[in-house]
Amino acid sequence: MSSAPFPPAPAVLVLGAGPAGLACAMELSRHGVEVAVAERQPRVGGLAATLRFDEGEHTFLTDIGPHRFFSKNRYLYDFIGDLLQEEWRRVPRRTRQWIDGSFYDYPVNAPQVLRNLGVRRSVRVLVDYARARLTYGLFRRPMRTFEDYVVANFGRSLAEFNMINYTEKIWGIPVSQIHPDWAHQRISGLNLWSVVRNALGFGRRTGGPKSLVDEFFYPQYGTGRIYEAITERLRAAGAAVRCSTEVVAVHHADGRITEVRLRTDDGECTVRPDHLVESVPITRFLELLDPPPPPEVLAAAGGLRWRNQVYLFLTLDKESVTTDNWIYFPGADIPFGRVSEMRNFSADMSPPGATSLFIEFFAFDTDPVWAMSESELLDLVMPYFEQWGFFTRSDVRRAYLMRREHVYPVYDLEYADRLAVVKRWLDGLENLVYVGRPGRFMYTNQDHSLEMGIVAARTVIEGHRYDMNGIGAENEYFEQGVSYQR
Ligand SMILES: Cc1cc2nc3c(=O)[nH]c(=O)nc-3n(C[C@H](O)[C@H](O)[C@H](O)COP(=O)(O)OP(=O)(O)OC[C@H]3O[C@@H](n4cnc5c(N)ncnc54)[C@H](O)[C@@H]3O)c2cc1C
Repeated sequence: MSSAPFPPAPAVLVLGAGPAGLACAMELSRHGVEVAVAERQPRVGGLAATLRFDEGEHTFLTDIGPHRFFSKNRYLYDFIGDLLQEEWRRVPRRTRQWIDGSFYDYPVNAPQVLRNLGVRRSVRVLVDYARARLTYGLFRRPMRTFEDYVVANFGRSLAEFNMINYTEKIWGIPVSQIHPDWAHQRISGLNLWSVVRNALGFGRRTGGPKSLVDEFFYPQYGTGRIYEAITERLRAAGAAVRCSTEVVAVHHADGRITEVRLRTDDGECTVRPDHLVESVPITRFLELLDPPPPPEVLAAAGGLRWRNQVYLFLTLDKESVTTDNWIYFPGADIPFGRVSEMRNFSADMSPPGATSLFIEFFAFDTDPVWAMSESELLDLVMPYFEQWGFFTRSDVRRAYLMRREHVYPVYDLEYADRLAVVKRWLDGLENLVYVGRPGRFMYTNQDHSLEMGIVAARTVIEGHRYDMNGIGAENEYFEQGVSYQR
């Protein structure tokens, strides 16, 4: 269904049709509020979109990296279940990691690791852990960095085994320069004991720490179906959801957003909304403001950095390559960080008799991999896959190269102070709500972005500014995820 034209003065204009923007629009529409959505990309879903590649009569679908859904929030499961009905399925999780020439289960299976490490290195792991507990527990050494956090909870040997190198690969900076917020969000509640307890089968009934969840929900035709279905509902209700529409300027006066200029395929247009909800990367949003924010705000924003990603998607004339949803490659000697096989999320992601691999690289725009061509990347990765017996070059049907900016907000040691300056100023704009992973410079999963969108809608409807800082920031949100029965 195509979109209605933009109303010149909607009650709410939403910038970005990712999970946060669309959840907000859906909630507003359900409450009878007039809403319009502008999305820069030709499709909805943001980082959670599902891409489609047609090769003759065959269609391959892929997410932008693996997208499993899990959340503490029962409302979200019902929300998506209602949208997708029988397309919303449970999938067993199988993930591994490749370390020092062997595949290991992920999350860490402590007995397997100790068995493979041998007696000497295993004793070292345990001694290091005891030492770390003394240093950080008994003697209360403060945890100022991500490195402190993982060493304190796993001991140095285990932290180096599979956490430190992968984290450095994602962020491109040493763990000693990464803020502990990253650990609080991602692995809080996990430590050597919880891993061992989980391996022995304890702790699952209560959900256990979130990173140990062993199944998840996934839509039959890719995670992007959630956002396509929301868009269909919005359009059916008469809302304008326009893709290939980029915000190019945001005017404000007297502490209010007054008008937004959009560039569409048909030229530029101006919209004067009562409220603006936006999920544009926060640093980019500041650049769009007219008049510009004060110099100290721009200076703080100038210090916020993003990590980009490069993706190589390979379609393969082979029935199957692995049994994994995805495999991590933490080692610095391997140029990519993660590989996903989409047919292991849902058989409908690939045509019969064929499969695909989605390969992720992390990069700043100064890194050589950011500028590589499709064929250079294929040359780079092939020796690894051939060596592991995954597939040969003759199995490759096609290779597709994609690049994305603003994927990971870099949590360096100064980010929190800088972000606080920017947020303080943005919070002074009375009819603005900024949401989502790029909009709040926060590493969110889909569930947190969806929650932010819903909270943004309530903020508009109820006229009460809810605090969004807690969403996804606490273990309460991140670490006890369950996949509810439906
Ligand atoms: C590799 C990878 C793996 C992931 N795995 C998982 C997972 O397993 N589980 C999970 O739950 N989550 C996962 N995520 C996270 C998930 O994708 C995000 O949390 C989610 O997409 C964030 O939604 P958002 O709406 O906050 O932001 P986004 O998805 O980034 O949406 C923002 C939207 O704003 C648009 N926009 C930007 N600038 C403009 C402009 N100037 N004008 C108009 N529109 C604009 C963008 O095009 C985009 O569509 C993963 C992400 C990545 C990258």
